[in-house]
Amino acid sequence: MAQRDILEYPDPRLNLPTNPVTLFDDDLGQLIDDLLETLYATKAVGLSAPQVNDRRAVLVLDLSDDASAPQVYINPEILAKAAWGLVEESCLSVPGIVGNVVRATEIRVRAQDRTGETFERDLAGMDAVCLQHEMDHLAGKLFIERLSIFRRLRIRAAAARARRRSAA
Ligand code: ZN
Repeated sequence: MAQRDILEYPDPRLNLPTNPVTLFDDDLGQLIDDLLETLYATKAVGLSAPQVNDRRAVLVLDLSDDASAPQVYINPEILAKAAWGLVEESCLSVPGIVGNVVRATEIRVRAQDRTGETFERDLAGMDAVCLQHEMDHLAGKLFIERLSIFRRLRIRAAAARARRRSAA
């Protein structure tokens, strides 16, 4: 296993869509293991393949306190959504930004596991919210794109200032 570097906003590669996984091979297993190792090193609750510059539709979650409950979703699709609420989110690829996003807090998801086996699962609360956040990454979308236009412009300006500072 190895930790991988995480792409950060405004890297345009974060806005590229992913491709469905068709090959359930050792290389896919390596990607999943690396995503989990990187997730645990950052103490975050979710990570997607495009955040480590891999174009496969893979994401991992672990909402436990002790790295004891890894969840792996390959080619996920949401079958049903209910119970919308406003939730506070942040993202490893958008450091330092916290924002409120409207999400379903109850969902039913269909996905494949690392062997290619299809499963369906009901998720509620933060599991449901985090899965939707990571699925946005698979579609090339960041949570800040769900914030108000005013908020987005301020985030973009702050990123441009940070770039100028690091270039100076
Ligand atoms: Zn994220």
